[in-house]
Formats: sequence, structure tokens, C-alpha cells
Amino acid sequence: MRTTQYLLSTTKEKPADAEVISHQLMLRAGMIRKVAAGLYNWLPSGLRVLRKVEQVVREEMSRAGAVEILMPVVQPSDLWEESGRWEDYGPELCRLRDRHNRQFLLGPTHEEVVTALVRNEVASYKQLPLNLFQIQTKFRDEIRPRFGVMRGREFTMKDAYSFHLTDECLAQTYQVMFDAYCRIFERLGLNYRPVIADTGSIGGSTSHEFHVLADSGEDDIAFSDGSDYAANVEMAEAICTEQRAEATEAMSEFDTPDAKTIADLTEQFGIPAAQGIKTLIVKASDDSDHELIALLVRGDHELNEIKAEKLADVAAPLQFASDEEIKAAVGALPGSLGPVKLPMPIVADSAVAIMADFVAGANVDGKHYKGINWERDLPAPQVADLRNVQAGDPSPCGNGKLDIKRGIEVGHIFQLGDKYSKAMNAGVLGETGKHQTMTMGCYGIGVSRIVAAAIEQNHDDRGIIWPDALAPFQVVLIPMNMHKSHRVKEVAEKLYAELTAAGIEVLFDDRKERPGVMFKDMELIGIPHTIVIGERGLDQQVVEYKHRRDGEKHEIAIDQMVAHVQ
Ligand code: ATP
Ligand code: MG
Ligand code: MG
Ligand code: MG
Repeated sequence: MRTTQYLLSTTKEKPADAEVISHQLMLRAGMIRKVAAGLYNWLPSGLRVLRKVEQVVREEMSRAGAVEILMPVVQPSDLWEESGRWEDYGPELCRLRDRHNRQFLLGPTHEEVVTALVRNEVASYKQLPLNLFQIQTKFRDEIRPRFGVMRGREFTMKDAYSFHLTDECLAQTYQVMFDAYCRIFERLGLNYRPVIADTGSIGGSTSHEFHVLADSGEDDIAFSDGSDYAANVEMAEAICTEQRAEATEAMSEFDTPDAKTIADLTEQFGIPAAQGIKTLIVKASDDSDHELIALLVRGDHELNEIKAEKLADVAAPLQFASDEEIKAAVGALPGSLGPVKLPMPIVADSAVAIMADFVAGANVDGKHYKGINWERDLPAPQVADLRNVQAGDPSPCGNGKLDIKRGIEVGHIFQLGDKYSKAMNAGVLGETGKHQTMTMGCYGIGVSRIVAAAIEQNHDDRGIIWPDALAPFQVVLIPMNMHKSHRVKEVAEKLYAELTAAGIEVLFDDRKERPGVMFKDMELIGIPHTIVIGERGLDQQVVEYKHRRDGEKHEIAIDQMVAHVQ
């Protein structure tokens, strides 16, 4: 590829609205451009990297016995009515109608479509097990799309679905997928960890997430320093079920005039670090005793995101409603621990941050109530206090102490069991001629998220440092003053032809630019091997070579160059 024919689109300036380094570098290196919140154009360099990830994923899935198919992005609501998710799935689901007023959705995941497919195509146990995968666009109307393609609304996922006659067979394939995932992340050169995970709204029993370790990660992972134990923090917390039940009871009796913050409340009731209970203030009800109606919501981030939106719908019009109206509306919400009266404005945490501004500036019955926005007003350690597991706690596995690190979820695998196959009546004729419901697994990888996650782990102050498996080009050729020197041009063209013929992906910087500009651009883009062709070396038939990672310069004979970078 010649730069003059390419769309390089590099920029020097640090983009104003990009919080994490991968987002900044993807914009500056000309990999992506925003179209709207959570929607991106992939420019040539970005797309080349995305395709590299896809290719590794595709090869390892095929090697593990999965077969590639392609399902539509747009799915009919009927299938989701069969599974029950048309009702259950929150506002992340983008619903639409066609010209005949039939209901459709943009697929956030494909369990329903694939289950319907296999229900029709597979009739006998002899055709099982079967593992189907696709690499395809998903749409989720994320409440807060951010960090560029890390949390987009439209993104590329590899999703696989396996079908079995028995749970033992499912467990075997699950292990095969687990191993395939490890190979994929190793080949991509990522520092990752598999962790025990919650099955959340997808359903099922056993589940693991794969996390790329990075400070910018949105998830907390609890590691044991005394064993291989690693779990998603919610999962480590869930181990303390008994404590949780006690906490719920204590919370329901809650009625204290002195409490000021969640931390105070939890201390007062002896509830260890609030058991993941989130509080949302709905209304200041009475001027005289500063009573507030609060909703306590328990549980994981995912559920709370969904609830936060529902709550916004409920709470906004209730700002000036009567206590009775609020209680009725709030009490009816799924997962609610019921409305309780709080003595004064308290907190909204990150999961319900959507409400924080409303809370902070609530104008109720002519008063301005100042609330506390958990994230904004409280020091970070207090946010961590909300969790009921902390660094230094004994590990739930019994060995060692917990360390808590941030991770980016790049993969998630589940043993679904018969959740979808039962609801959608997907079965086969078993060995004895009896109809048997299939049992299923599903396996996701965030293909586009991996591109960003890889940059989080591979960069320096000059730009991206691609691992070989992901680099958009392997080699960049930088001829010095080619437009003045015929000799330089000749050698550059010759090397370009030879390297390309050897199957190496080369970017030939044939722009009429100063060498400094070319060097800066190529370091930003992160191409592993740089070859600099200058008049000076040509008498000795050598060119200058450097690797992006160490930047050390070497003189290499022109006729050794192909072998050197291969
Ligand atoms: P998250 O917890 O980050 O919201 P998830 O648990 O909702 O992710 P899954 O349903 O497990 O996601 O989907 C499989 C994979 O798809 C995830 O492990 C992640 O790598 C990727 N993914 C999910 N949501 C997004 C998104 N909004 N943008 C990019 N990749 C995503
Ligand atoms: Mg999600
Ligand atoms: Mg998740
Ligand atoms: Mg997940």
C-alpha cells in the first residue's frame, strides 16, 4: 500500500472528548471516526486491525470444531416473544417497526434466531453436538456509550452457540471453547485472565468471563494471591448469600433520623459494605422532617443499568407526586426492595448516575435539595466501600487474600442449559425415539472491543505499539527525500516489490513529506518494523532498520532485508 493512495488521517492534537488512551490513539492514528454516540466509521488502518482480530478468532473457532454461519442483524419480535425476552429485555434493546407495522429489533445477541434455526435444521440426536458461530454486528442501546469502540452501541461480536443432547456433552464443549478462548487471547498477545462470572440476564448456570487487565477497565476482578482463583467481583460477593439476606431484612426495617450517608446507614445496621445495595432518591416528601422516599435496589451493575432507565421513567413525573403515588409506582418495579423513608438527601451511585443530577438539583415543593452524587462528591475509597469484598479480604476459595484489579471484559462464555431450547421447543429425537429438549451453550467475544483493549496494553507516549498479530501493516518503508534522489526511489521501489512478493504487508510512505513527519505518523500508527532508505547507506548497500518496541537503529544489507523482517 502506498500512502499517497491511502487514507492516513493522523492528527497531532489530543482529542478533547476521549477519556481513555486507546480512544485517543485510535482517533489520532486515524483508525476510527465518530458518526454519532457509540457509532463509528472504521477507517482503513482501524479496519485492517479489526480484520486481524476476526481472522484469529475465526481460525481458532474453526480449529475447535465450530462452524461459521451468518444471521441477520434485524430480528422479528415473534422469536423474542417465544423466549420471553421481548418483555424482559430492558431499554438496551432497539425496537423498530416495518412498513406493515410488524415489530422487529436490532440484535443485541442471537440466541433466539439460532435456536429457531437449529430447531428447524436438526431433527436427530445423531446431528449433535453442533456448534455454530458468526462474526457480526450487534446493536445495544447502551445507557452510556463511551471509550470509543470499547463500549459502542454498534459493535462487532463473535458469538457461538452449541447444541447438545446432554449436559455432560455441553460441559465438554464448554471446556473446548474455554481453551480456544485462551489460545485466541494468547495469539493476540494480550495479558488476560479468565474469571468466574455471573450469568446475569442471559441465564444458565456456569459462566466465565475473559478480561484484559487494564486500569481503564470498567469491571472489578477479585484475584486470590494464594491460588488461581479469579472472579468477577459480583460473583465473589454472591458467595456471601447469607449476609445478603440479613442485610435485606435490616434494610427493610430501616427508619433512622440520624443517618447521613450510605456508609453511615450500613454501619448503623451492621451491614457489611452495603451488600451492593444502591439507593435512589425519588422525592423529598416533607419539608418539616426532611423525609425522602428512597428506593433500594440490590444486585449487579447490569440489572441496575436497566433499572436506572426504568426508574428515570418512573421517578421524573413523580417529582411532585404524593407519597402514596410514589410508593405504588416504586414498589411495583422489578427487583425493588421497596420504598423506604430516608431522613435527608443521600446518594446516587454510578449505576444510577442517570438520576444523580435530578437528585442533586431537585426542586421539590419550592425547596432545593442538595443531594450527594456518589461519584462526584465522595472520595474514591468510599465508592469501594460499597462493595462487600475488598482487597485484603480472605479469598472465597479459602486460599490467600483478595487483590482487586480492573479488567476489560473481552469474552464471556455460558452454559445456558435449556433456557432457550425449552421456551422455544427446540428438541431432537433421542436414541430411544423419544423427543428430547436440547441443552445449549453460548460463547461471545467482543471483536471490536479487543482492538481498543489491545491498545490499552500496548502503547507509549509516541503512539500505539502493535503486537505482530494485530498490526495493520508489518513493515513501513520510509524513503528519505525520494523525490530528489533517484537512487533512493529505486531501492525503495525494489524493497517494496520484494517484501510484498514475500507476503509481507508493507506501507510505502511515498508522500512528499519531511522525514520527521513520516516518522511521527508511523510511530503513532504503531507499525512494528520501520525501514529507512537514505542516500548515505546506499554506497554500502545498507538501509536503516528499527523496531517500534525498542526503537534501536540497525544497519541491514538491502539484500538481507526480506529475511530480516520475515
Ligand atoms: P459489558 O459488561 O461490558 O456491558 P456484556 O456482559 O453486556 O458486556 P456480553 O453480553 O457478555 O456483554 O457480550 C459478549 C461480549 O461482547 C462482551 O464480553 C464484550 O467483549 C462485548 N461487548 C458487549 N457490549 C459491548 C459494547 N457495547 N461495545 C463493544 N463490545 C461489547
Ligand atoms: Mg452490557
Ligand atoms: Mg458484563
Ligand atoms: Mg458479559
